Amino acid sequence: MTASLRLAVPNKGRLKDPSTALLRDAGLSFESTDRALSVPVRNADLELIFVRTDDVPELVTDGVADVGITGYDLLAESELGPSLEILAELDYGRCRLAAAVPSHNSDIDNWEAFSGARVATSHPRVTGRFFAEREIDVTVVEFKGSVEVATKIGVADAIIDLVSTGSTLQVNGLRAVGTVLESQAVLVARSRHNGTVARLATALSAVVAARRTRYLVLNAPRDRVDDIADLVPGLRSPTVMPLQEEGMVAIHTTVATDAVWDLLPRLEAAGGQDILVLPIHQMI
Ligand code: AMP
Repeated sequence: MTASLRLAVPNKGRLKDPSTALLRDAGLSFESTDRALSVPVRNADLELIFVRTDDVPELVTDGVADVGITGYDLLAESELGPSLEILAELDYGRCRLAAAVPSHNSDIDNWEAFSGARVATSHPRVTGRFFAEREIDVTVVEFKGSVEVATKIGVADAIIDLVSTGSTLQVNGLRAVGTVLESQAVLVARSRHNGTVARLATALSAVVAARRTRYLVLNAPRDRVDDIADLVPGLRSPTVMPLQEEGMVAIHTTVATDAVWDLLPRLEAAGGQDILVLPIHQMI
């Protein structure tokens, strides 16, 4: 039996493993395989097709797949954005398309100074649009890979390349001048108006939201509840339940994962005891 919906998933590269992990965390059950081009999802009306990350925008636009996971930078580069909808930002594969020049022998330190420069990039369309919008005249030199060597070998004055930490730039004697585009993995479809596509978007967004959040359980004297509730407003408001022990309550709430580090000592100072911080799997 063929599934009614095809989801295009990166078959290699940086987005492959986090994408399959996300699908599994969303409760989809499928076989791990490095060889098959497609696998059925056992518990949903879905088929996964494994394709190159940069082919995803076109495959979804053409109808080969109904929905797909790719990088926002690749969607921008494909110029198929108008025919596709971003259904969810997936919070991994974060990087930026950065402009960089040789650290020591370049005068370029702002966008205007790129005027007349040769710029090497794996994202020629995004780069061309970026400078055209600012009316800065550059020559774009397309590179398929290893953009960072372009200035060293003398074919360009600057590069526009994907970076996450910037350490590759440093290692190659380059300094960043500015950011052309921020990117992360995204879920794209031709339309969200399909029951299964909408369910998939909700399920993946629920995992993304849950990863940003922790479930917090703690005990406290009843007369400290207000102080603690001020620190942890939760989704709506904390759940407060009496304990068997007179004058004590349990407080349940959610907190931003990023806030946990700062919050724990403050909760203790506010009278929190027996504090548990637990993962959440999905949050709608
Ligand atoms: P791949 O070339 O298949 O490894 O995938 C490249 C995609 O991963 C890019 O188009 C970005 O969307 C994403 N990505 C995330 N971080 C980086 C990075 N530091 N360098 C290159 N690509 C990155």
